[in-house]
Amino acid sequence: MHSVSKQELQDTLQQLNQAIYNHDQWSKDLIRSMICRLPYDNRDIADDAHHHCRFGQWYYGAPPQAFLEHPAFKAIGTEHRRMHQVTAQLLLESASKGSVNPLDYDNFVSATERLRLEIYSFKHEIEESLNTRDPLTGAENRFNMLSRLRELNELSKRGIQDSSIAIMDLDYFKKVNDTYGHAAGDQVLVAWVNYIRKNLRKYDRIYRYGGEEFLLSFPGNGQQSVKELIERLRNGMPEITIEGGETKSIVVTASFGIATLDPSLNVEESINRADTALYAAKKAGRNCSCIWDSTMAPMQNAGEGHLSAISGEINESH
Ligand code: GH3
Ligand code: MG
Ligand code: MG
Repeated sequence: MHSVSKQELQDTLQQLNQAIYNHDQWSKDLIRSMICRLPYDNRDIADDAHHHCRFGQWYYGAPPQAFLEHPAFKAIGTEHRRMHQVTAQLLLESASKGSVNPLDYDNFVSATERLRLEIYSFKHEIEESLNTRDPLTGAENRFNMLSRLRELNELSKRGIQDSSIAIMDLDYFKKVNDTYGHAAGDQVLVAWVNYIRKNLRKYDRIYRYGGEEFLLSFPGNGQQSVKELIERLRNGMPEITIEGGETKSIVVTASFGIATLDPSLNVEESINRADTALYAAKKAGRNCSCIWDSTMAPMQNAGEGHLSAISGEINESH
């Protein structure tokens, strides 16, 4: 879910709400026609009835691409199809016998409830993901960050998997704001996060850690393989197009500090190590990444570290 953009989440939620409404209407009509002994709709007894109802038209006709492989979305398909199969049997039974066996009816109710459960748990997952997003960039906000990192630390303590983290800080970002304005700075933040999110692997995450600082977590990965991934990301970042007034393309680089999530430490100390490594990357000239090692001077205080900007270059092309 975290790899899906905020916009896609919002669009899917809207479509899902409409699909739920359509499904409820279908369900009410069906029960009404059974109780009032009205003739059934032939589409409801077809083998592919699940494709014809309005919920099915959305699910199979215009599904949200980002979720096609998502387990909760796939489970909806399974339960929806099952519910239609049970419904078709019930309609045929009701039409031929003039009544319905209570067990068959219970089976129908349980199939509709299972479908409802799957739909609402998918909806809940989307809403929860939206609630934990930073409003500007769509990266995850800090609220769940520490607890998730602690979970990773626990897995590492038990020898199940090692993980690494990285802190990314955009270079000379004050200068971007000063030169192009705060709104342009915002666009740069969004562009960087979108780029990173598209290129992270399934279980990796990006959190907005501070203003233009982001924490990335890499479950199951050692610091060396994380460095290789980050170097690819850093080198592959395209120019950023700034919209508004005169359209411009600018290059904004980032520096990264990498550290293992050391199970013998608490996560805050590992974050400090990544911060120290970031400081080293800034001192080494920016636009690079460093892995923490014990010879690095620890950060004394924020004012002395990477937070204090010095003037630098921004490359611009129109
Ligand atoms: P350095 O290379 O040392 O990191 O230099 P820097 O200019 O990036 O320095 P610093 O990290 O201290 O600057 C952070 C700036 O980011 C200051 C702050 O105004 C800006 N900033 C923080 N949050 C936002 C935001 O949401 N939008 C915009 N446009 N700017 C932001
Ligand atoms: Mg910066
Ligand atoms: Mg900073």
